[in-house]
Amino acid sequence: MRAIVKPSAGPGLEMVDVPMPKVGPDDVLLQVKATSICGTDLHIRSWDPWAAAHVRPPLVVGHEMCGIVVDKGANADGPEVGQLVSVESHVVCGRCRFCRTGKGHLCENTQILGVHRDGVYAEYVAVPAINAWPDPPDMPYSIASLQENFGNAVHTVSVPDVAGRKVLVTGCGPVGVMAIAAAKALGARLIVASDLSDYRLKLAATMGADITLNPTRDDVHGTVMDLTEGEGVDVLLEMSGAPPAIAEGFKALVKGGEAALLGLTSHPIQFDLDDNVIFKGASVHGIVGRKLWDTWYEMRGLLRSGAVDLTPVVTHRFALDDFEKAFDLMESGECGKVVMFPDPSDADGPLS
Ligand code: NAD
Ligand code: ZN
Repeated sequence: MRAIVKPSAGPGLEMVDVPMPKVGPDDVLLQVKATSICGTDLHIRSWDPWAAAHVRPPLVVGHEMCGIVVDKGANADGPEVGQLVSVESHVVCGRCRFCRTGKGHLCENTQILGVHRDGVYAEYVAVPAINAWPDPPDMPYSIASLQENFGNAVHTVSVPDVAGRKVLVTGCGPVGVMAIAAAKALGARLIVASDLSDYRLKLAATMGADITLNPTRDDVHGTVMDLTEGEGVDVLLEMSGAPPAIAEGFKALVKGGEAALLGLTSHPIQFDLDDNVIFKGASVHGIVGRKLWDTWYEMRGLLRSGAVDLTPVVTHRFALDDFEKAFDLMESGECGKVVMFPDPSDADGPLS
């Protein structure tokens, strides 16, 4: 089968023929219908220090997907052959202290598809049956594919209390704009969004941001203070990992407010803990992955009720064969979510 692999330590990815995956007794074999690109995949292509420290080539990359169950191992429970599923990319052990206490997102033995074990940029992939999340058969493949990433947004938004509150979202990449939609659906009263890219700010407005600000020309702090009677926002959702955005976000947070941090800084940063957190009495939540499986149930509710429509987030579709072009576009930032199709005839919209 065709697959995109990281052949050896160093920059670049290749599409090559690899053997069909082995289906373990607890696994389902999935025919990949759609697969989306995440920032992690860009790090693995460019082989930055994070990738060099975490990825052991050779490896099939990619972790966001949907597909059809085509085979099952002898002990595999769950979805039947023919079922459309999305995939939770974190394969957890089920035995460690965290798994056993309902905190599977913190599992100390987590294996991430496309990072620690073969991933989903391929025609087929085998995953534990428990990781296959059944979707309605009429769900568009591109939406089914990006649910894993939407889960990051839903997890972030559901930890602080956003209902009736004023919210600042710093960073309007794919996760930021999906967080805006989720915050709106969960009842946020005002959503202010910031990003350096006007393309992404436009998408943020489409997804429900009330005010969009570009720090290269707008006064983010001044505007937030004007909108909040000089108090600041109740909730900060940090979705950029950019140190200036983190500083600006905390400065704009009301005393006693809540911050949920998803963005990764990629290196240790300087941060004024005294003024931003301690004297402010702020509560800070670190967010990793998706809660297993609370976040998936919450996502299902938001999507099936129509409270969140992710259609505008999918801005580009490519054949998997054209992955280099798809990755270049994702790197440019002039896009929302970029989805690839191993079989181009599966595309649920025009291909770029
Ligand atoms: P992304 O890189 O596409 O988006 C980040 C956005 O932040 C970009 O649009 C960028 O223009 C914007 N930005 C940069 N500097 C800014 C500033 N000063 N002010 C406002 N915006 C600024 O990333 P994404 O895929 O949307 O993911 C969001 C973040 O979450 C990334 O840092 C990613 O690594 C991280 N992430 C974390 C987890 C987790 O489990 N914690 C999971 C997925 C993604
Ligand atoms: Zn575990």
